[in-house]
Amino acid sequence: MLVAINKNSRERVKAIEHKTGHALRSKFSCGDLICPFCDGIVFARDRPGFVLHFVHSHPCTSNIDRHPESPEHEQGKLKIAEFLNQQIKDDPSQCAKVEVEYRLSECGEHGRVADVALVYDNGNLLICECQLSKITSNELEKRTLDYYSIGADVVWFLGKDADTPENRNWLRSMFGSVGRLDFVYTSS
Ligand SMILES: [Zn+2]
Repeated sequence: MLVAINKNSRERVKAIEHKTGHALRSKFSCGDLICPFCDGIVFARDRPGFVLHFVHSHPCTSNIDRHPESPEHEQGKLKIAEFLNQQIKDDPSQCAKVEVEYRLSECGEHGRVADVALVYDNGNLLICECQLSKITSNELEKRTLDYYSIGADVVWFLGKDADTPENRNWLRSMFGSVGRLDFVYTSS
């Protein structure tokens, strides 16, 4: 996960706003950073090829619907957040901000965590979902309708195993277009 909670101040702590795991370990005492969903203790981890992120010290106990955490998925969320930040950077109204791992308690059966959300001051939401693991178009539809049910629109970015002709066709018929995430692997 890319966002933890500071147990003492209840503030969101974004991994991306720190340069290294060392910076986070220096700043926050052991046990101060917790999971936003289960309140379990998390710690910072940076490894070559991974974006700086947080890891549970015990498995997450939350039943909120959220994606499994793979390095590619973390990277995808950051890329989408960068893309959205670019889109709104020249907007003088500054009426929206980009949030990663944005919790939506009213969405779906147990609540959902949007990968990236454009959150407007007036309550509007544009959700961006990064889907890399295998999924059926029925599941895509169910998640889309969950977001619609709270008045949020959604943009899907497909990559890896989720990027199938069937899913592309479904998204095109529903939205007219579909985003794609490509990963380039190197051995270095
Ligand atoms: Zn958790």
